Amino acid sequence: MDYDYDLYVLGAGSGGVRASRIAAGYGARVAVAESTYLGGTCVNVGCVPKKLFVYGSHFHEDFEDAKAYGWDVTAKEFDWPRLRDNKTAEIERLNGIYRNMLAGANVDLHEGHAQLIDSHTVQVNDEMFTAKYILVATGGWPTVPEFPGREHVITSNEAFFLPRFPEKVVVVGGGYIAIEFAGIFAGLGAQTTQLYRGPLFLRGFDESVREFVKEEIPKKGIDLQFNRNVERIELDGDTRVLHLTDGSTLTADLVLYATGRHPNTSELGLETAGVALGANGEVLIDDFYKTNVDNIYAIGDVTDRVQLTPVAIEEGMCIANNLFTDRANKKLNYDTIPTAVFCQPNIGTVGPTEAAAVVLYGGDLDIYESSFKPMKHTLSGRDERTFMKMIVRRSDDVVLAVHMVGPDAGEIVQGIAVAIVAGATKAQFDATVGIHPTAAEELVTLREKTREA
Ligand SMILES: Cc1cc2nc3c(=O)[nH]c(=O)nc-3n(C[C@H](O)[C@H](O)[C@H](O)COP(=O)(O)OP(=O)(O)OC[C@H]3O[C@@H](n4cnc5c(N)ncnc54)[C@H](O)[C@@H]3O)c2cc1C
Repeated sequence: MDYDYDLYVLGAGSGGVRASRIAAGYGARVAVAESTYLGGTCVNVGCVPKKLFVYGSHFHEDFEDAKAYGWDVTAKEFDWPRLRDNKTAEIERLNGIYRNMLAGANVDLHEGHAQLIDSHTVQVNDEMFTAKYILVATGGWPTVPEFPGREHVITSNEAFFLPRFPEKVVVVGGGYIAIEFAGIFAGLGAQTTQLYRGPLFLRGFDESVREFVKEEIPKKGIDLQFNRNVERIELDGDTRVLHLTDGSTLTADLVLYATGRHPNTSELGLETAGVALGANGEVLIDDFYKTNVDNIYAIGDVTDRVQLTPVAIEEGMCIANNLFTDRANKKLNYDTIPTAVFCQPNIGTVGPTEAAAVVLYGGDLDIYESSFKPMKHTLSGRDERTFMKMIVRRSDDVVLAVHMVGPDAGEIVQGIAVAIVAGATKAQFDATVGIHPTAAEELVTLREKTREA
């Protein structure tokens, strides 16, 4: 059969753009449909604008810390519209770059909502396109649970475009997006409370990291409350009145819900094409990203597996390689994906948590831990500490994981991840000369194990 395209991609986000460009580079005829914004969540309402806000929110502390270094900085009023609009201008620049990249790679861009009509046909606006292979890369969307007053809350999507900066904010949620936004609002000067319904936030991260961050966050002025949940929200003028399940109330002029995300699979025609979905609406795939329909694939957040930009990008690379080269059957190694949380101080992590390592190799583990005051704060006097943990498999000395909380933890752990993916041993870490004076040198000078596990 003669198709219009070799590959039709639904969604020009992190994964979709990468798969399209690489496949077109291999000579495939490729089109991508995008309904909302080029570059997807990461570029428009995710990683990139968030990191810009994180930078913005840290100046407050930097101005204070500057004093001990001889600088008298009189911080002027924080100007929210300036930060917001500068951010938006930068994002628009990136949207343009994405547009040019697709055009430069000879990928046809169809702007509009795409849906499947059958397993080889996609409809965008009023046009129909056929393709040999179809890739679903439509990402995810924030989930706000059902409760009375849910219309009075915002999600991370809206937080990037607030018309005015709030004085009093409640962030609900215990995942990385919630903790990052609590840090952003507090750093930019809002009185900030973070509520989480469970006993400890950051589920899935190493227990020591979670406990350490629990101690650090309140030092940034965030009122952290665990085992607290919202029953309903009412309006009193512009004020949101939060009625909690324990009978207490809180007030705020902004409530941000960061309580998870769900896959973007509604109104995609997936059922019509016979594509099987999981309980959370995610597209079900095999190890090589193929759905139950032979020519339809899915990658990234829509599969509800690891929701990170570099993962979606790498999966896009795998798809292009598997479909259009003889380097077939590529998949990602999901065991050693490094990641960061841009709370303040940052978290950087690679490899299994201690609890997961115990399940895999219990009795064969050496745990090294270190906690210290960052050098910068010896003068500033700020009460902030850094934490590092290394997990080593005793029988072969292989370093399985590094977990860190501290300034630039993401930058540091990215480098360490190369060593861990390469299978470096503790002896090789020890044989590496440190860079002095840095926090990272601690990772090559961890001499005494803290405990065995
Ligand atoms: C606040 C926030 C902060 C984040 N921070 C980080 C971070 O620091 N680091 C990190 O690695 N990850 C981060 N992420 C996660 C990251 O953004 C996602 O994992 C990544 O964007 C997933 O890429 P994707 O290609 O699967 O989907 P997306 O990037 O979401 O792209 C999907 C695209 O499909 C389009 N689309 C949907 N339906 C249709 C349709 N029917 N027709 C046409 N187009 C459609 C959407 O408009 C979107 O552009 C963050 C996410 C959020 C929300």
